[in-house]
Amino acid sequence: AVAGVQRLRAYDPGHDLVALRRRFGAHALVELGSNENPYGPSADARAAILDQLHALHRYPDPRGGDLKRALSARHGVAPERLLLGNGSHELLMLLAQVFAGPGSEVAFSRYGFAVFAIAAQASGAVPRVVEPLPRDAAMPLGHDLEAIARAITPATRLVYLANPNNPTGTWYPGDAFQVFMRRVPEDVLVVVDEAYAELADPAVWSSALPLVACHPNLVVTRTFSKGYGLAGLRVGYLAGAPGLVAVLERVRESFNVNGPALAACEAALGDEAHLRWVAERNAEQRSMLARALRERGLFVFPSQTNFLLVELGPETARIEAALLEQGVVLRPMGGYGLPGCSRITVGTAEENRRLLRTLDDVLGGRR
Ligand code: PMP
Repeated sequence: AVAGVQRLRAYDPGHDLVALRRRFGAHALVELGSNENPYGPSADARAAILDQLHALHRYPDPRGGDLKRALSARHGVAPERLLLGNGSHELLMLLAQVFAGPGSEVAFSRYGFAVFAIAAQASGAVPRVVEPLPRDAAMPLGHDLEAIARAITPATRLVYLANPNNPTGTWYPGDAFQVFMRRVPEDVLVVVDEAYAELADPAVWSSALPLVACHPNLVVTRTFSKGYGLAGLRVGYLAGAPGLVAVLERVRESFNVNGPALAACEAALGDEAHLRWVAERNAEQRSMLARALRERGLFVFPSQTNFLLVELGPETARIEAALLEQGVVLRPMGGYGLPGCSRITVGTAEENRRLLRTLDDVLGGRR
């Protein structure tokens, strides 16, 4: 396990955002590097936090019962199938810690979410990186479910998928996933990370949540960080078989989700209109931004998320640095093994205008 951890590369947030905010002023900085929700949470969630201020000296509900009941009602999943976490990041780590470990293999796609490799290695497991779909496929560099199924060996304990995936933005169809699940042995746990679920268009994307009831070896993770705009509170959840959830409940920290966070997420779930509004704004700005970038001759990966992976080519580092000088933050992709690409979060209309204006200056009017 120690050898695995020594090879491990820490999660890279891209830039020192605290220093950048100090330099530019938080309001002048256009932060398009972390796939955050630029609109923020529901006003009901903010009010729920204020309402918790009188109880800060108390420990929170260790079971998160109210939030679980609200999630159960929203998803039609029994509360005993739900586990709450300090962000879905914590849950992704916990799953490897409990179900993988030394002597086992953990499979995931190259360019899959960065935490998959960290979780596998931190647990002492051997990561099995599966080649993605080719760059000229309909889902360029997306998960190749057939190749992932073929990569499963008797040592495989866990498979991570992200749908839609970060940093590619790509997704796979629901029927292909059902075929995949039929091919996976029952002693291999399949974890589907659906962090961007609320921002995906149900006409083209489908969730694995309804399948959890038919597959005891399937876990789906979700988060309040993206669609709900609560990244700062750190709340995620997973749905899985009751027995599996019971094991994880015993291993997790007893108060892993704090009181204001529990209350805010419950309130956020109650404000469906805000979530719908965010998803609509995001989809509209995403297609506007993708179109504008393509008009500038750039290759833009398909996305059902709140970000776009864009090929800026051999000049990527220079372009990113020049944008940063103007207070526009993108996420460099060198650490992901995608050095000619940059990941751009879809901002508000105003932020996206500023991005495009600055990009035009930097590219020298190349259109
Ligand atoms: N999964 C994916 C695919 C993500 O992009 C992110 C956030 N960048 C996470 C999980 C983690 O989100 P959180 O820990 O905030 O729930």
